[in-house]
Amino acid sequence: SRLPLIAGNWKMNLDHLQAVAFVQKLHWTLKDAKHEEDSVEVAVFPPFTDIRTVQTLLDADKIAFALGGQDLSTKDSGAYTGEISGAFLKQLDCRYVIIGHSERREYHAETDEVVAAKVEAALRHGLAPVICVGETAEDLEKHGAAAVPVAQLEVALDGVASDADVVVAYEPVWAIGSGQAATPQQAQDVCAKLREVVAAKLGAEAAERTRILYGGSVKSGNIAGFMREPDVDGALVGGASLVTDEFAAIIRYQK
Ligand code: 13P
Repeated sequence: SRLPLIAGNWKMNLDHLQAVAFVQKLHWTLKDAKHEEDSVEVAVFPPFTDIRTVQTLLDADKIAFALGGQDLSTKDSGAYTGEISGAFLKQLDCRYVIIGHSERREYHAETDEVVAAKVEAALRHGLAPVICVGETAEDLEKHGAAAVPVAQLEVALDGVASDADVVVAYEPVWAIGSGQAATPQQAQDVCAKLREVVAAKLGAEAAERTRILYGGSVKSGNIAGFMREPDVDGALVGGASLVTDEFAAIIRYQK
């Protein structure tokens, strides 16, 4: 009964003009295919400089995609050059914000503690954090698949209220942008363990309602396999979310 969420993380791709063309084309592709809007939630995560433009387009053309940022500051305002407040994202009708993506952990040295502070900041501003966790190839070899993502999620959910609206994204680092996705069974195994973490931290009701996504080389050809798994409630898509027909086919995975 969890509403599937198909989320497109654009990363550092598409400027605000390209974003308009892309969102319009995606909308019309789905319309032409008679995609039922309420069967799955679609979310896009553009670069910050696109968000105002995309918000205006979604509003003007009554396009039912949810909007989110790719990161936010732990702080609410002040002398933090280059940072973006959750308050600003909320003002632009963002529903979500990605937190702790492996690229931020790797290139911006984001620790589990920083991730936890960002989760708090998101919730403080009424944004649902999409908390990314996942093991590297080295972690996988040393500790198996679940140990690192489980530990990351435990810290990220520290102090989070049991009624908080959060989304978890399991993204094995070795599967991101590699063309080598996890198998549906691998994704299911870890997502089930992550749901146990949500249960332990936030309670059984939260575990039942919280959506857990798989991410890492998701494409139209493998999405259905993931979505068949009981603990996989959607996908966080990178590269394939930038190709209209491919992303539309992922959204329409049931067809
Ligand atoms: P790819 O779909 O390009 O592997 O990226 C996944 C990802 O990192 C989404 O956040």
